[in-house]
Amino acid sequence: MSADCVFCKIRDGQSPAMKVYEDERTLVFMDINPLNAGHCLVTIRSHAATIWDADDADLEAAITVAKQVALALREAVKPDGLNVLQANGAAAFQSVPHFHLHLIPRWNNDGKGFDWPVVPGDRARIIEIGERIREALDAAL
Ligand SMILES: [Zn+2]
Repeated sequence: MSADCVFCKIRDGQSPAMKVYEDERTLVFMDINPLNAGHCLVTIRSHAATIWDADDADLEAAITVAKQVALALREAVKPDGLNVLQANGAAAFQSVPHFHLHLIPRWNNDGKGFDWPVVPGDRARIIEIGERIREALDAAL
């Protein structure tokens, strides 16, 4: 199962992703495909399908890192708000069966509900935001 998991492939460097942070338990990368400015995913290095399957220490690490990512996003992107979202496996129609948290910057009156992408950006802006988040996380963690 984990051999086919795109998040495990990202962890192992076998699938491209804009990683902004890594430690022994967690991995943070930006969602570059929908070109959503600042959308970050916090995941754990161990393959666990849902929040129920995740090791307690991994879950605690993911939540701690997610807080730091939230602060870094605020510094880098200055959104009006932030959605932190965990969609639980098949029950939530997750296409990737690997526990992760979404951090999605929100702007007032973006009128998008939970639709993604929230605020599209061009590739240069995504890369610039990724650099700022990386710098803020390096300073914070
Ligand atoms: Zn996986």
